[in-house]
Amino acid sequence: MSRPDETLGGVGEFGLIDRILAGLKLPPQVRISPGDDAAVFSVVGDVVATTDAFVEGVHFRRSWSSPKALGRRVVAANVADVEAMGARPVALLLALCVPLDLDPDWVVDFAAGVRAECDTAGVALVGGDTTRSRDITATGTAIGQLEGRSPVTRAGARPGDSVALRGRTGWAATGLALLAAGVEVPLSLADAYAAPLVPYGAGASAATAGATSMIDVSDGLVADLKHVARASAVAIELDSSALAVPSEIRAAAEVVGLDPRQFLLTGGEDHALAATFPPEAVPTGWLPIGRVASGPAAVRVDGADWPGSGGWDHFLR
Ligand code: ADP
Ligand code: MG
Repeated sequence: MSRPDETLGGVGEFGLIDRILAGLKLPPQVRISPGDDAAVFSVVGDVVATTDAFVEGVHFRRSWSSPKALGRRVVAANVADVEAMGARPVALLLALCVPLDLDPDWVVDFAAGVRAECDTAGVALVGGDTTRSRDITATGTAIGQLEGRSPVTRAGARPGDSVALRGRTGWAATGLALLAAGVEVPLSLADAYAAPLVPYGAGASAATAGATSMIDVSDGLVADLKHVARASAVAIELDSSALAVPSEIRAAAEVVGLDPRQFLLTGGEDHALAATFPPEAVPTGWLPIGRVASGPAAVRVDGADWPGSGGWDHFLR
């Protein structure tokens, strides 16, 4: 706990890093870090690496996300990309930029979220950087191991494959829509927006089961499957009746006057995994939602092209 009037300016960079890392336990494959110039750890097979930045005012608002939830979200979003390559997540690096007038407790709570999600995901926080800035920016870098498997890319879907989903879609977007509308948000949807439930471990097991392509649903199911369709030069046919509408999403969609399917098909940030498998090879726990047909590259829902991008794009307004 910090003094009520304490700010980061008073704690200093090293005091802050100490608070982020206090009591950190590391698994045996991490040989050095944090505290040295760089981390040293061993992996099995090829390395998978990815990074994702969270910028205040762009990806989150301090008034809508608790620091703990934001810490969880940064880890979840990064690790989901490692999972989507068919890799097992191993380590995470964290670059944190914070304003000098921030309450140090914000950072302590954020770090608690980072560490809790690292534990859930099975990754070790092995290092990072801490610096001051005007707005809060938290950038994660996740490292995974392929353990001898081939990476599962977006480019391997083949006509005849089944399309399947692991994890949930539409929850975070529904929570966000209610927040934006200024209406009361049920706890389950607020939690979903605050921090996603990533199906950790499902990426590696999908690869073992023979997934031909995979992607994490960060922008929206249709939008992300369009990336798969384009990279694989195939058409993806989705059957929307395969996606059951949860009662929370149905009720919220009524409040904001939208079709609940809109949330399930285009809502981002839940970080489910979508993959294609040879027919009959869809593993347990994956929901079959459609099939792959021969090109041209497109995603069709119930036989019709989905209007619009099918998800979120930072550069389109
Ligand atoms: P350097 O000057 O070598 O960049 P720093 O003073 O930035 O070292 O960091 C000291 C140690 O603390 C390093 O091992 C670094 O990985 C770790 N570290 C710094 N900030 C963070 C953070 N936000 N999360 C995790 N580890 C961090
Ligand atoms: Mg540094």
